[in-house]
Parts: sequence; structure tokens; C-alpha cells
Amino acid sequence: MKFIDEYRDPEAAAGYARALRRITTRPWTLMEVCGGQTHAIVKFGVDELLPPEVELVHGPGCPVCVTPLELIEKAIEIASMPGVIFCSFGDMLRVPGGAHDLLTVKARGGDVRIVYSPLDAVTIARDHPDREVVFFAVGFETTAPANAMAVFQAAQLGLKNFSLLVSHVLVPPAMEAILSSPKSRVQGFLAAGHVCSVMGYTEYEPLAARYRVPIVVTGFEPLDILQGVYMCVKQLEEGRAEVENQYARAVRRDGNVPAQLLMREVFRIVPRKWRGVGEIPASGLGLAEPYAAFDAELRFGVADHTADEPTECCSGQIMQGLMKPHECPAFGTRCTPEHPLGATMVSSEGACAAYYRYRRLKVPPQEKVVVRGN
Ligand code: SF4
Repeated sequence: MKFIDEYRDPEAAAGYARALRRITTRPWTLMEVCGGQTHAIVKFGVDELLPPEVELVHGPGCPVCVTPLELIEKAIEIASMPGVIFCSFGDMLRVPGGAHDLLTVKARGGDVRIVYSPLDAVTIARDHPDREVVFFAVGFETTAPANAMAVFQAAQLGLKNFSLLVSHVLVPPAMEAILSSPKSRVQGFLAAGHVCSVMGYTEYEPLAARYRVPIVVTGFEPLDILQGVYMCVKQLEEGRAEVENQYARAVRRDGNVPAQLLMREVFRIVPRKWRGVGEIPASGLGLAEPYAAFDAELRFGVADHTADEPTECCSGQIMQGLMKPHECPAFGTRCTPEHPLGATMVSSEGACAAYYRYRRLKVPPQEKVVVRGN
């Protein structure tokens, strides 16, 4: 298949649905790790094509959603300082902090700018040597190489006015935290294809073996996801627990080695708090010692600041596969995209936002075998 429409072909989807029904003999719970996959599942109604025995629960793979409150608060504090140009991807501006968000800082006169690449922030720093330019570096292994490149480039240019507020998180430790919880219902994973395009999938092999869970590296189109589910259920039905690659058109076993080398040059592995989940050991990236001068937390003296998570939002439960967005009492009432209580309602990859935007919670039976398009 070469074109996007082929990955959304309703007849091929129905074929996978039939094949899945043929091989499924008992209930299975699978987790799609990535928020992009969650959106595709809800948008195209992929879960409505599955046999009733196969349930998909949603994972912690949305970088905006898992950024802890204390880092949002640090971002707000730094962005409010005079002389600072605070650069971020757009999604982060509306994530609620304790009292307000980065958009409020901007509305009150703070110089908060939306950028589309960390290298744009480096350019802003080069063009404004009299200002401090900070980039809010959030994301998984997918965005870490570009952020590492920004720091590397800033170092090459000798910039003294550029820094990163780093909130990078790593996927395999989060999967392990979910699996090691006694509450976990997850019996198989659809691993995030784009993360594996950078990191490969060797890190998943010990996890699959230790916890006896199949892990299928999966893409983001409806047929990718259906095929990933099929491969995962097939392993479960056959009693296998291996790492398989559905997304071979983009992922190699060893990943993108130059990108990994750059990440290892600029970053080091640190413990990281995940919003709604808590601290997970060795689950984040921070700046390595030679690049500590680019650490905004140190530069602006906010490294020790902490903040308690609010209790009303249950996104932590959702991102661990323990409940679905519409089961949250605030969903669609006190919490909407216009007035979000949690990041999962703000982010374009958030599970709550996906359910709010696409989910018809009462689906008429005759529509259950239709793959919805745009
Ligand atoms: S609906 Fe709102 S309050 Fe409930 S889990 Fe989602 S983001 Fe949090």
C-alpha cells in the first residue's frame, strides 16, 4: 500500500474484523500506548469493529497529558519573568496549572510564543541576544532527537541566552509501571510506531518476556491498528508473548541509530513524575552534565519547586487503562475542551478530547461496521 486511502479502506477493515472474530475465543484487554493511536481508534470507530471479547484501553502516550503539574507551574513562572521569550508547542498553552495556564501569561503581556520546531526557538535566541529564550521541551523519544539537536546547535553557535525546560518521558518504563501494577488489566500492547521508528524495539523484548505480554509495534492508520490488534490477539490465543512489528514500513529493529546517539550525547536518564500517575524511576530525560548550562530549571532557580496534582481529574486512571474518559464524572459537564480540568481534555492527542470530539456514546447498531472517514 502506498497511499493513505488504502490504509482506511472499509472493505479491508471488514476483512480484518472477520479474521479477528474467527481467531478470538475469549476476552482480551489490549492497550494502545500512543495518544495518536487513541485518536485514530475513536475517530474511525476501529474499536467498534472488534469482536466484543476484545477491549482496547488507552495508554499514557500523550506528551502533553503526562507533563506533571509542577513543570507546568515552572513554565508559567519562567514565562512570567521579565525579559523572557517562552517558546512552546501550541497544545501546552492551555494545559491548566494550579491557578492559570500559559495562555493567561500571554494575555497578561508575557512573551509566550508558539513554535513548530525547537530549532525555531534557537533562531529566536540568535536574533534576540538581549533576551532569555526558553523552549518547553516535552515529549517522548520521538521529539527528543530534535530537542537534542536544538541544544547541540545552540552550543555550536555559542548562544548564552537559550535554555530548555525539559519534560521528556520514555515509553518502556511507563509500560513496565503499568504491567507491574496489581490493578493492571493489560494483556497485550500496541506499541507506538513513531517512538519505535527512533528507538527500535529491542527495549521491548525483555518486557514481553518478563511479563508474558505480546507487544506489537503498530502504526496509526485504521488498518495498521486493526492489523496490530489481530497480531496481538493471535499471539494471545496461541500462548505466545513476543515483540512483533506491524509497522515495518517505518520501523527497524534497531531504530534510528544517529538520532539515538545524539539523544545520548545531550540527555541522561532521570526519574520523572507523570501527571496523574506519579514518579516512575528512570522514565525521563534531563540534560546531561556537559549541557547543564542549557537547563532552564537551573538558570531560573526553579528546580526545587513542587506542586500537588489536583484530585478532581482522573486522567491518571484513564492513562493506565483503568477507566474510560466518559466514565469520569466531570466528562462533558464540568470538563470540556473550552473549560478543561485536565490535560487529557486539552491535548490534541488526549483520550478525553478524542471521546469528546468523535465518540457517539450510543452507536446505532447498523453503523457498527462502518469505518468513519474525515
Ligand atoms: S474528563 Fe476532564 S476531569 Fe475527567 S479525566 Fe478527562 S480531563 Fe480529567
